[in-house]
Amino acid sequence: MSDSHDSFPFSAATLLAQAHGAIDPATDAVVPPIHVATTYLRGADNSYPSGRVYSRADNPTYLPAEQVLKALEQGEDALLFASGMAAACTVFQALAPGDRVIAPTVMYWALRNWLQQFAAQWGLELTFVDTSDVNQVKAALAQGPTRLVWLETPGNPLWTVSDIAEISQLAKQHGALVAVDSTCATPLLTQPLKLGADIVMHSATKYLNGHSDVISGALVTAKNDAFWQQIRTLRGQLGAVPSPHDAAQLLRGMRTMHLRVREACNNALYIADRLQRHRAVKQVLYPGLPDDSGHAVAKKQMHGGFGGMLSVRFRGGAKVAIHVAANTKLWKRATSLGGVESLIEHRASIEGEGTPCPDDLLRLSCGIEQRDELLADLLQALESAPA
Ligand code: PLP
Repeated sequence: MSDSHDSFPFSAATLLAQAHGAIDPATDAVVPPIHVATTYLRGADNSYPSGRVYSRADNPTYLPAEQVLKALEQGEDALLFASGMAAACTVFQALAPGDRVIAPTVMYWALRNWLQQFAAQWGLELTFVDTSDVNQVKAALAQGPTRLVWLETPGNPLWTVSDIAEISQLAKQHGALVAVDSTCATPLLTQPLKLGADIVMHSATKYLNGHSDVISGALVTAKNDAFWQQIRTLRGQLGAVPSPHDAAQLLRGMRTMHLRVREACNNALYIADRLQRHRAVKQVLYPGLPDDSGHAVAKKQMHGGFGGMLSVRFRGGAKVAIHVAANTKLWKRATSLGGVESLIEHRASIEGEGTPCPDDLLRLSCGIEQRDELLADLLQALESAPA
């Protein structure tokens, strides 16, 4: 996990536990206040002395979480959003009609679906490639001018790993920006901006909050440039912001992220390793396994763990996968990921047509429960599976 942050000379653990160490100047409170006001006083001289006008654009309650994210990702600025989707979609809405985007074949399905629809309506040219293969990205960049390369690594739900440093270098040579959905890597395991990316995106609903009780998203930028200002303006115009209460709850969740992510990574590695030896298992997809196709790049760009997400493919096909999900007791059958409780999901059922996800696959989001209890629950569900 990353150490020492520019504006806060302590480790990520200390940065998170103390939420950047800020004390509320008005009250000396050790927890920042929640600002519920929607509007701010205009001065007698007609200016806004506080610099704030109206809360649809921003709210001071967002600042502590944004400050922590900016420091963790080592960016110039950070913004909270109403959801991960709001954060990601705002990046694409900041592009101009005619711009070309390269995106991964393995990515969060709802964003892929939205992107296909939006690209057609907005006039974006969209090229999907397997971004875990740098040569495919290279070939796509050579096909014509590109404005943005979107990456997601590890990529949900097959956990393919894309080489952020190599792709960022290539993109730069072609004048393209790189944005990375780093939700599943978390700001602790990978820092895309340090590897050359321009923007990093998180569904803060997942590991950042970590308790399955806040929907939120975030972007962090390497440079506070014109493109970023366009994103900030769009956030304010669209009101794509979280409620102040959600922002405060998110910050509380972030204070223990380092502990939760460590446990989730340890549980995932343990379960991946045990399951891959089970006779009913065809394949475990987890970049932490030495023979996983993404392991070498993951080792290079992930530090402190390989994430809490894995997928399992069963020899008996969809019927076994669905049986296992139906018969676990500790693992909860639910969508989403990154919470303290472990979740299990048959992804092909939710992703529908066009998904690269095989129907013999279950996606597992490892929580922070005791690892042998989690494993035993999966094994007992497998025992009664149809042959
Ligand atoms: N990115 C990834 C990798 C996700 O898994 C998700 C949600 O599952 C999102 C983005 C979207 O985030 P949200 O649900 O906060 O809109």
